[in-house]
Amino acid sequence: MDADLEELYQSIILDHNRRPQNFRAMPDATAHAEGVNPMCGDQLTVWLKLDGDTVADVSFQGSGCAISKASASLMTQAVKGKTRAEATELFEKFHGLVTGHGGGEDLGALKALSGVSRFPLRVKCASLAWHAMKSALADAAG
Ligand code: ZN
Repeated sequence: MDADLEELYQSIILDHNRRPQNFRAMPDATAHAEGVNPMCGDQLTVWLKLDGDTVADVSFQGSGCAISKASASLMTQAVKGKTRAEATELFEKFHGLVTGHGGGEDLGALKALSGVSRFPLRVKCASLAWHAMKSALADAAG
């Protein structure tokens, strides 16, 4: 990866860590799920509100390392407004990106996390919020 791109990716992660998007509890959520990564100490809750088949709102709260928090923030931005199928597809693509199994061409800002594929322990940090989102989505399905 060239140095400029790496710098851009770093700044996206730092920015989302400092000012996470959708960082709030959601009392009227359709479903929520918790994610814990004991290897790093990351702990977060993801809330989802469904409107029919669409993720009308998604939020998170918790504490953890910069990667887990930035990834959760980016996840909420990426998933909001998507259908359940689209959100699931995004999960698969993101998972491929951070585990180094390709994909990710159309992931936009999420590509900032592509670097974690070189650090297996960080993959759990980056995918924590995504796994929580996926299980909240499954819960919401009833
Ligand atoms: Zn972490």
